[in-house]
Amino acid sequence: MLLIRNCTMQGRGAKQVGSRRPAYGATFIEMLVIMALVLSSLFGALVGHIITESWLGSLTGGILGAVVWIGFLSVVFLFMDLWSGYGLPKCRNGCCRGPGLFKGDGDYDLQKIEGEYFYICECGDRYQRRGKRFLLVGEDGAESRCLIWRPFRGWSPDKGSHSN
Ligand SMILES: [Zn+2]
Repeated sequence: MLLIRNCTMQGRGAKQVGSRRPAYGATFIEMLVIMALVLSSLFGALVGHIITESWLGSLTGGILGAVVWIGFLSVVFLFMDLWSGYGLPKCRNGCCRGPGLFKGDGDYDLQKIEGEYFYICECGDRYQRRGKRFLLVGEDGAESRCLIWRPFRGWSPDKGSHSN
C-alpha cells in the first residue's frame, strides 16, 4: 500500500519503490496508422490517375493522399493532447518547465531508478505521470497528488477523491 498525501508535504521513511511501469506500446495502432497512410496514398494515386490519366497524376494524387492523411492525424493528435494532456506541468516549486507542444524539451530528466521511471526536475524532486495525474514521489516511494489534467482546461490542482 502506498500512501497518498498532500503535495506540499514530504516525508521520509523506509525506502519503498513500487513496481509499476509507465505504459508504452500502442504498436497495433501504429500499424493501423501506417496501413491507413499507405491506403490513402494508394487511393490518392488511383484518383489522380483517373482524373489525369498519367503517371504524374498518380504521383501527385499519392502524395496528396498521404499529406491529407498526415494532416488529419495531426488534428486528431492535437485533439487527443487537449483531451488527455501533453507533456508535463511546472514542478511544485514553479521553476522547472515540462516539455510541451511549442516549448521544446523541458527541464525534467527521465531517469530509471530501481526499475521504475521517474521525471526528475532540476530541484531534484521525483515525479511520475500516470494517466491524467502528475504525482510527486517522495524518497520513501510515497506518492503525493499534485496536478491533474482537465480536458481543454489544462493542469489543475488535484483535489480528487482518494480512490485510484
Ligand atoms: Zn523544479
